[in-house]
Parts: sequence; structure tokens; C-alpha cells
Amino acid sequence: MFRIHSCWIPAYFIDSPLCGLMRTTSRYESENSFFSHFTNQGSTLMNCFETAMEKQRHIQERLDHKTIDSVPKFRTYLKIERHASKVYTRPLFELVQAEIFVGTWYCQIETKSLVEGSEVSVIKETKFVDVLRNQGDGSVVCSCQLFVRVGILCRHVFYVFKNANIEVIPSQYILRRWTKNLIPAALRNKRNIYGEKNEIVENYANEASSIVDYCVHMLSKDEPRLSSFVEKLRLLKIDVEADCPNPPSKNKADNLEELVGVPKPDEKTINNPALGNPKGRKKLRIKGGKKQALDKNSKNRNACSLCGEIDGHNRRTCPKSLQKRPSWINQKLQEKGTWINQKLQEKRTWIKQKLQHKSPAYFF
Ligand SMILES: [Zn+2]
Ligand SMILES: [Zn+2]
Repeated sequence: MFRIHSCWIPAYFIDSPLCGLMRTTSRYESENSFFSHFTNQGSTLMNCFETAMEKQRHIQERLDHKTIDSVPKFRTYLKIERHASKVYTRPLFELVQAEIFVGTWYCQIETKSLVEGSEVSVIKETKFVDVLRNQGDGSVVCSCQLFVRVGILCRHVFYVFKNANIEVIPSQYILRRWTKNLIPAALRNKRNIYGEKNEIVENYANEASSIVDYCVHMLSKDEPRLSSFVEKLRLLKIDVEADCPNPPSKNKADNLEELVGVPKPDEKTINNPALGNPKGRKKLRIKGGKKQALDKNSKNRNACSLCGEIDGHNRRTCPKSLQKRPSWINQKLQEKGTWINQKLQEKRTWIKQKLQHKSPAYFF
């Protein structure tokens, strides 16, 4: 039975949703592996979590950029393909596009019949599948069950859609998890989770900086007007400074006190806990480029065992050992060196002569 599992597993799992399949184990194991990159001894929960989330946001932004800021290449002239490019994220669109393409070129309708208000089409691709389309509510079911398993419509359904002149993917067949703009922009930029913030003040601050940004953008090609704008801002700044007799402090200790909510005690009575060794294999910290270069450099810094200097030479190449050698060995070595140099020079002139005989075209 197990030996033929390639035959029965597809049939057994044909109607189980397998996209984004996660069981309890896979869920916490994946979380573990994701967060383990950002933890080390002594890091606090908050800063580890924030770093991890920052990475997640970065990936999200990059993928969004790819989806929004580039135009996909279309492979057919069907409007349904254009529609798919508008709703799906780029990787998903590529999958759907392949289905549309194959559906258009490699599927044929074998027979078509009406059964109780539903249109049943037998589609021939490599094998036969049945597509059932309800003309009343527009629902489609294909016997290959790709939509149930993966969450995108299959080539057979797209072929039936093309025959029925359907130009958009029905909304019930667009899963929300595959669509663009899943995370609202306002939620995405929420960073500050420490302490409580005054939301109204924050909104005003955001608006102020966005107004300034916008003005700078508008005037970016107009030097005289930009300079007068900056002049106005300077005057405004002087006004604001005059109005604020005790501005918020920029001191690090003051900021920390505000964050923690208690003033710094004069005397230190509580010490940091001793660091414990967590169980399991010690996770190696990912080293940055600078650290790697420093490490590599320090590896060659072994002292010479003869003279004890650390300028990179060792016992064999130590200048002292050269002095220690009997003079006749040094002489022999020198003779050998000059002999080798001579031979090399001879070889070089010989090659040069050979090359001169060849025409220049030989080399191209
Ligand atoms: Zn199908
Ligand atoms: Zn030495």
C-alpha cells in the first residue's frame, strides 16, 4: 500500500485545502525559527520582538513594491487576465496567469449539456474533467478540485469562462488571503508600542511633517521659491522657540525616565540578574561584514615563535632564522634563486618570439 502512495495520496487529499497548510507544530516551529535569529543572551523581549517585526515589515514592503510598482507581462489578450493582475499579488498572479494561458491553449470542450439549470462541460486536457457551472448564481465546480486545494481557479474553469464570455473572476473565487493591499497602510506604519501616546498629538505631528514633505516636493525644481519657503520656515521656528520657554528635553536620561515612568534613583540598589544559559544548542549570532573582516584580520596576528613579533611572519619566514643559517646555505639558496630567475627570463623571451610570428588576427 505504502509503495504506491504516489497513486492514492493525490486522490485522498483532492478535496482538502492544502494552501497555507499549518498545523500546531508547524506554526510554533516556524515562529521559533523566525524569532531565534533575533534573540541572544540579555536581549529584552520588546527589542527582540520589534527587530523581528521590522524584518517582517521590510519583506512585506519589498513584496508590495514588486506588486505595485512593476507592470506584469500579459500572455493572452483576455480581459480576465487583466482583472487577475489587478486583484492578486504578483506571485499569485503568475500562478493564475499560467492557468489562464494553459486553459486557453491546451483545453478543449468535448461535450456540453444542461442538467437541472447547470451547464456541464466535459473538458479534455491530458485527461477528462467535468466542469459544472450554475447559470443562476454563477458558481463553478471542477472535478479536479484545484480551487478547494490551492485557492485559485483551475485552467478548466478559465476555459469555460472564456467560452461563456466571462471577463472578471467572480468575487466568491477570489480568496482574501491572495489579494493585494491586505494590510491597511495605516496599520502597517504603526511602530511605537511602548507606553501610551497621545493620538491626537501624534496625528498633528504626522500631518505637519507630511505638509512640509509635500511642499518640498512641489518646490523641488524651483530654487528661488524653495529658498524663500525655507526662510519662512526659519522664521516660524524662531517664533515657536520664543513661544516655548521650557521645551521637551532631548537628554537621553530624561527620555528614558519618560519612557519608564519613574525617575532615576540616586543610588543603585537592584542589580541586573545573572545571565542564565538557555537549553539547547548555542545559536550563533550572525556577524556583520565589519566584524567578519576584523576576525579575519586578527587570525593572521599570531606571534612568531622565534622572535615574538606579530607583523605576520612566522618561524619559517622569520628574518632572524635567515641570519642563523650557515652562510653556505644562504649562498646556495641565492644561487638557486638567480638560476630560476634566469630560466624564467629565457622562457619569457622564447614565448615573445613565438608570438611575434603569429599574425594579430590569430588572437581574435
Ligand atoms: Zn479543473
Ligand atoms: Zn620572527
